[in-house]
Formats: sequence, C-alpha cells, structure tokens
Amino acid sequence: MSYTSKDYIHLEDKFGAHNYHPLPVVLAKGKGVYVWDVEGKKYFDFLSAYSAVNQGHCHPRIVKALTDQAQVLTLTSRAFYNDMLGKYERHITSFFGYDKVLPINTGVEAVETAIKLARKWAYKVKKVPTNQAKIIFASGNFHGRTLGVISASIDPDATNDFGPFLPGIEIIPYNDIEALAQALKDPNAAAFLVEPIQGEAGVVVPDADYLPKAYELCQSSNALFIADEVQTGIARTGKLLACDYFDFKPDILILGKALSGGVLPVSAVLADDAVMMTLKPGEHGSTFGGNPMACAVAMEALDVIKEENLAENAAILGDIFRKKMEELIAKNDLVTFVRGKGLLNAIGINDTEDSDTAWRICLALRDNGLLAKPTHGNIIRFAPPLVMTEAELLECTEIISKTILEFKK
Ligand code: PLP
Repeated sequence: MSYTSKDYIHLEDKFGAHNYHPLPVVLAKGKGVYVWDVEGKKYFDFLSAYSAVNQGHCHPRIVKALTDQAQVLTLTSRAFYNDMLGKYERHITSFFGYDKVLPINTGVEAVETAIKLARKWAYKVKKVPTNQAKIIFASGNFHGRTLGVISASIDPDATNDFGPFLPGIEIIPYNDIEALAQALKDPNAAAFLVEPIQGEAGVVVPDADYLPKAYELCQSSNALFIADEVQTGIARTGKLLACDYFDFKPDILILGKALSGGVLPVSAVLADDAVMMTLKPGEHGSTFGGNPMACAVAMEALDVIKEENLAENAAILGDIFRKKMEELIAKNDLVTFVRGKGLLNAIGINDTEDSDTAWRICLALRDNGLLAKPTHGNIIRFAPPLVMTEAELLECTEIISKTILEFKK
C-alpha cells in the first residue's frame, strides 16, 4: 500500500505525542534549498529545520563525511580515546578562536552545559558563596525545552504546569542595558546568557550598541558573557557568528544546529582555559557527545560554510530580501515590518497575536511552493538554506509578494 500525505499525518496524530502543531505538508526528500512532499510537489524550504540546514539539505560533502565515518567507527565510550575527537577539537577551536571545546549533542544540552560551566566558574574563580550563583537571562528568550532552561522562560506555553523551576535565575528585559547593569550589581552574578538576535521570539534584533555594551558590563562586573548562537551562528546572519558584527568575543559560545548541517545532532560549548578548565573529569558529559560521526560531520560542515562563502552569501541575499519586503510593505497593509540580519528575517502581519492570519498566509505560501511557519502568532520567520542563489531568492520574494497581495483576510 502506498501512503498519501493524509495517511502520514494520521499516523503522527494517532501514535505521536501532540507536542508540535506542524503545517500540513509531509516531506519525503530534500536537496539544497528544496524539499519535496510525498506526492512529489517541490517547495523552497524557508525554515531550514530552524537554521540547522544552513549548508542546504543533504549536502553531498557532509553526507559523504557521515557515511564514510559510519562504516568505520560510529561511537566509542568516552572511557577511551578515539582517532577523531582530538582532530575535531583542534579544528573547531581554531575555527572560532577558543582554547577548548566541550562537545555535546543538542542545542539545549549545550545551553545546560554553559549554565553548569558558568556556575562552576563562579564558585571556583569568582568565589561566589556555595549555591548562590545567579545567571541572568533576557525575557523573550528561547534556549530550548529542558527544565533548567525553561526556568528562564517567560513563555506560558513553555512553563505552565511544569514547575517547580530552577533557582538562581534572574530574568531582565531584552535590549535593556540599564536592567543588565542593575542585575550585574549582585556580587553573585555569574553570567549573562543571551541570544544575539532572538530567533524564536520573532527575529528580534537588539539596538546596535546593546551587545557590545552588555559585554563590557559583564567584563567590568567580573561576570561571564555567554552567547547562545545555536540559531544565529554558523553564517546564518551574514557573518560566522552574529557577535562577529562587533569587536568582542563571548566568554562562552554555544553552538548547535548547523554545526552538523542538519544530518545529526551536534552541539558545542567553547571557552578559554580559565573557564573551561574549572570542569573536572566526571562532572559533565554525555554518551554521544563528541562521537566519531559527529566529529567527522562537524569538521566537514564547518569547511563547507567557509569554502562556499555562505556567510557572505547570507549577507548579500539578506539585504536583497529585506529590500524586496520593504517594496511589498509599500504596496499593502497586511505586512507591517520586515526585520533581521543576513538570512534570518521575519515579517510582521497586521493582525492580533492570537489571529490565524499568519498561519493561513503560510498555508497559501505552501500552496504556492514555499514553506515557512509563523512564530509568535502574527510573525512569519524566513530562514532559507544559505546555499540559495540570487535568482532563486528573487523567485522566492516573488512568491511571497504574490501570495500576500492576493491574500484575503
Ligand atoms: N538556543 C536557541 C537560540 C535555539 O533557537 C534553540 C532551538 O531552536 C535551542 C537553543 C535549542 O536547540 P535544540 O532544539 O537543538 O535543543
């Protein structure tokens, strides 16, 4: 029996937990900037697995690194050394300019790792009294779904009925440097953990001087600046890191998603020795963290970013995308704003946050061959793979403009 899209949706609905609300489209194949559904219809992917496939779907070099390594050695116990991990550690630390890396799997595990590392540093180096360390977060953040991380969330969907939460957290408004200055006055402040651009919140870009000022404040308060670049990092915003737009280096850098080009979960926490060496054997780890396949894939995924100039491409195409959206805004009342950096962008839809207008626009975009999804009700995020050409991007902005101009509210 051959299954239709409807059959696959029914299967997920019946046998899977209902912790996602997907757009009704069932994908069976991906290549570069395209995905195909089970009926063979082709779409531009404008979500890129939440920026995990920056290098494009099934990048041949990354898939080859995966399959080559899979035939030789997939996983060893971290009780032993292996012949891939050290090479990968040298590769990624020199790529991003840090002394050390702690390899782990998913984005949220990397965030948890960074929180533990900051606490450890606070007790061992800053001499914060036992169990008093405080980590400062920005409201509107999204760092994942574990209990530790949702303890820093203000989103009721993330927190309702999941308490009690982790202590030692202070949440301050995003893009508010005064609030950070106040919070850092606490001598127990260990770190400020922040997304350089808030992706899930709807691609919220802070004021141009916010991040460098926040970094300076952390420095002068003897607290760590931790950048969660799980979504913004690895060329998405038009530079290797979103923090590279400024003249500072985060004390702790968190990466995930595109570190593997989307072929398996690979994440990483990077820091210099003064911070990373506070962790001792047995204090943190993961069975799969730094496995040989992850190492092979991540090295290749990073080389692809560099050798295919994907950061530069994202910067150039991002400027074109926002210009085209500004032209659209001038022609209609439905789109209120476009914002973003590189190829991480969003448009605002002129309706209330609880309306289904943005959702219905995404259904119409799907019908016209482009996949995107609303984030926070009336905001639609657009984040295609970075291997897109200018001609393809212009075809996409045409689809978006035509869909919006023809849309009946
Ligand atoms: N941090 C940021 C900024 C993210 O955008 C995400 C996921 O979207 C995460 C952390 C969590 O990553 P993962 O879903 O791989 O756990």
